[in-house]
Amino acid sequence: MSRIIYMDNNATTRMSDGVSQIMRDNLELYGNASSMHTLGRNANAGIEWARGMLSSLLGCGSGEIYFTSGASEANNTVFNTARELIDRGGQRNRIVTTTIEHPSIIETVKYLRGLGYRIDECPVDSTGMVRLDEMERLMGPDVLLVSVMTGNNETGTIQPVARVAQLAHGCGALMHSDATQAIGKIPVDVNALGLDYLSLSAHKFYGPKGVGALYARSGCPLSAFVHGGHQEKGYRAGTYNSVAIIGMGQAAREAGENLQQEHDALWSLRERLRLAIVENIPDVVINGNQEHCLPGTLNVSFPGAEGESILLYLDMEGIEVSTGSACATGSLEPSYVLLASGVPVELAHGSIRFSLGRFNTREDVDTVIEKLPGIIARVRSMSTRRS
Ligand code: PMP
Repeated sequence: MSRIIYMDNNATTRMSDGVSQIMRDNLELYGNASSMHTLGRNANAGIEWARGMLSSLLGCGSGEIYFTSGASEANNTVFNTARELIDRGGQRNRIVTTTIEHPSIIETVKYLRGLGYRIDECPVDSTGMVRLDEMERLMGPDVLLVSVMTGNNETGTIQPVARVAQLAHGCGALMHSDATQAIGKIPVDVNALGLDYLSLSAHKFYGPKGVGALYARSGCPLSAFVHGGHQEKGYRAGTYNSVAIIGMGQAAREAGENLQQEHDALWSLRERLRLAIVENIPDVVINGNQEHCLPGTLNVSFPGAEGESILLYLDMEGIEVSTGSACATGSLEPSYVLLASGVPVELAHGSIRFSLGRFNTREDVDTVIEKLPGIIARVRSMSTRRS
């Protein structure tokens, strides 16, 4: 088979050459970063270098970065902090989030609700954008935390986070954003956005898997999520994964250096793909907000065709994409993000997410454009869903 055309960069990215290189160079850095001897201090120096790279990318102080295993852990840490504050009693005992967050928030919300905590999910409009009128209505003196993602992983819709932060702060609440999909694609500055907390994961911006970070503004409350050690000022116990953290530092460095250039390149590939799909395939629906959109994400519904079949046919051609479905425990459910945006079930079932990345080329896009119309026609002709 010819080379793989990877268009599933919102699921994960291939590590950049610079990241692979720096990790290889540091593989022998086996000292425990908490040890006081030379080997330990060398590992610690690498970790602090990475912390500096991340803080420059986000425009925060390096003391405000806490390393985690990824964005799921960072998100859980923020919600756990809110839960502990609520448990202490006081006027603020409500959390406000949205219907389109990543499962690491959606499932945490379900879990906390089951325990009796008060959590509201703000609806989104037909483009997957948080409804500011509803958000305003949900604000109040009892709100402790507001959490709205920066850019959606399925539709790419960029949320009005800075405006929501103003609303949250207007009623004295703390503001969190899961910026996992936005890092390296659009500018993410914690002060410009007005964030108290932010979550990210290295493998979404050409870094290694299993490492991420939480930004927590200095002076904002933070509860330890993993107990048992003095690492990360006692907030996150566990021996540092030094090599992965250094890899993430390099990924952050590259993201900061190439941001505008990368944004423009991704957007132009994405638009080439979108225009060709609309031109060459009848009856397609483009999902998400087309004006406020992460540059590499294109979510398309093909009415009368099932997403999973399209995915498998594309895979046979060496083209890797994702469906809009959440494939959980073998059952194929339509995407809750698309359903929350009002996309009908049938269209949600026939959706495909193309997520382009740094390594995609015009030739990749042109190959997809060449193969896709035939695949859609074949799947449509086979589909029992065709009306
Ligand atoms: N938030 C968003 C928006 C994501 O896309 C992801 C990864 N799919 C996560 C959080 C979780 O990241 P990780 O699995 O690396 O913890």
